[in-house]
Amino acid sequence: MNLVLMGLPGAGKGTQAERIVEKYGIPHISTGDMFRAAMKEGTELGLKAKSFMDEGALVPDEVTIGIVRERLSKPDCQGGFLLDGFPRTVAQAEALESILEDLGKKIDYVINVDVDKDILMARLTGRRICKSCGATYHLVFNPPAVEGKCDRCGGELYQRADDNEETVQNRLDVNLKQTEPLLDFYRQKGYLKDINGQQEIHTVFEDIDELLKGLNK
Ligand code: AMP
Repeated sequence: MNLVLMGLPGAGKGTQAERIVEKYGIPHISTGDMFRAAMKEGTELGLKAKSFMDEGALVPDEVTIGIVRERLSKPDCQGGFLLDGFPRTVAQAEALESILEDLGKKIDYVINVDVDKDILMARLTGRRICKSCGATYHLVFNPPAVEGKCDRCGGELYQRADDNEETVQNRLDVNLKQTEPLLDFYRQKGYLKDINGQQEIHTVFEDIDELLKGLNK
């Protein structure tokens, strides 16, 4: 089960990713999470990524592609993987094709969680994340049972530095410009599956699950 999950920031990609990896037991490979972890640990990779991430800009391809190649080569990706936040550009998608070819694998589906752009701004600025376990919430659409506390582990919820209005606008602009050619690339390859992301969270997951069940037959 080799999957790529796509969707503009705020489309609910992170939430669906959590559910997919939980149900199907495949590793969740999020380049954003990898960069944030590296920044927290203060590694060389973290230092390289920081200035780009702080501005909501893309980290250069040579850095990003390198970490994905390394991660996909690990044994836990043998039974499949869920890529989240990568690829972001056609150059990255082409690099991914070549990485997978080297590893004797291919993508099964590119799942595109589709949401109108106007709704995304509101969704994004309300996003909150658990400091301890990384679970995502939304003040309006998916609030925690207790304000400011994670349902799963009781950890403190925070707003990501790049979820402020100015950075969000920039991230959406960058993403919008780059997403269309990427969707075209995967549509042409026949991998692309559009999922309506404007439904209830559980309904979005049911649609994805229906698709993935077909792979296990
Ligand atoms: P995300 O958590 O996916 O929204 O990513 C947060 C930030 O990490 C982005 O705004 C970029 O600065 C960086 N990043 C994550 N994935 C990539 C990627 N595939 N290519 C370049 N930069 C990325």
